[in-house]
Amino acid sequence: MKNSTIKPIKSLGQNFLNDMNIVRHIVESADLTQEDMVIEVGPGMGAMTGELATYAGLVLAVEIDERLQPVLSVLETIHGNIKVVYDDILKVNIRNLIEEQFAANPQLQRVKIISNLPYYITTPIIMAFLEGDVPYLHSMTFMVQKEVGQRMTATPGGKEYGALSVSVGFFAEGKMLFTVPPHCFNPQPNVDSCVVRLLIRENPPYELENKEYFFKIIKASFCQRRKMLVNSLTNAGYLGITREDVREALASINRNELVRGEVLSPEEFATIANFLLHKSSLRV
Ligand code: SAM
Repeated sequence: MKNSTIKPIKSLGQNFLNDMNIVRHIVESADLTQEDMVIEVGPGMGAMTGELATYAGLVLAVEIDERLQPVLSVLETIHGNIKVVYDDILKVNIRNLIEEQFAANPQLQRVKIISNLPYYITTPIIMAFLEGDVPYLHSMTFMVQKEVGQRMTATPGGKEYGALSVSVGFFAEGKMLFTVPPHCFNPQPNVDSCVVRLLIRENPPYELENKEYFFKIIKASFCQRRKMLVNSLTNAGYLGITREDVREALASINRNELVRGEVLSPEEFATIANFLLHKSSLRV
């Protein structure tokens, strides 16, 4: 089957990279060695897959669209270290796939996830990897919509700073690497894109008494970002706290009750989450 006979499916986020300079730039920034197992989400027509296989010990690519099999199987034959699995990345058992490959290839030391992501499920994929306790995970290098990349790497005070910035920052150190214009893809997306690198933290950046409660606080804090924090948190019934509890929590970090969530640092959120956990009527 010729590449030209494969019509991109918009609903699968199929915007294929057609600029080899960008491909090389992404692969270089991942700093690959023979000790690395790369997981590529959505290899598509393999624009990056061969280049990844040149530097990594092994490339495990997970592609949902089986129409791409004739194209990708050629790459598997050329490079002995590419393995393609046809499945949905959100359903596949990634832990098993990694453990199998590490058992069979003793030179492997680290997992690096590298992908030009399908934009319709960018955040679920990233959060599934971050929260999923992926074994040997070292870093993730992703092409994403520029706006999402800005939100992932934002710092307090700006309009991009929100729940995604705090959540990603808890698990990884994020860095915006470079932007990519629409004409580097076929078909062209309607938005600018960017490449971000997330370096997985070895230790949490701050102490949390209860991770789940912290993420509930984050969710409530940014749910209505124009509201004062004292209102957002008191109105979130699932936190089990009163207005007075929130006032006390804010006082403990020297913030007054007019403050909005968008100016608090992740460390300040951690302090108030630990404080409010002890006040919560829902605490077991
Ligand atoms: N890596 C290729 C490139 O750079 O040209 C293709 C990137 S394209 C933006 C996204 C790819 O992800 C497509 O090949 C699409 O079929 C695949 N995809 C979409 N949803 C997926 C899912 N849930 N699981 C695995 N792959 C998926």
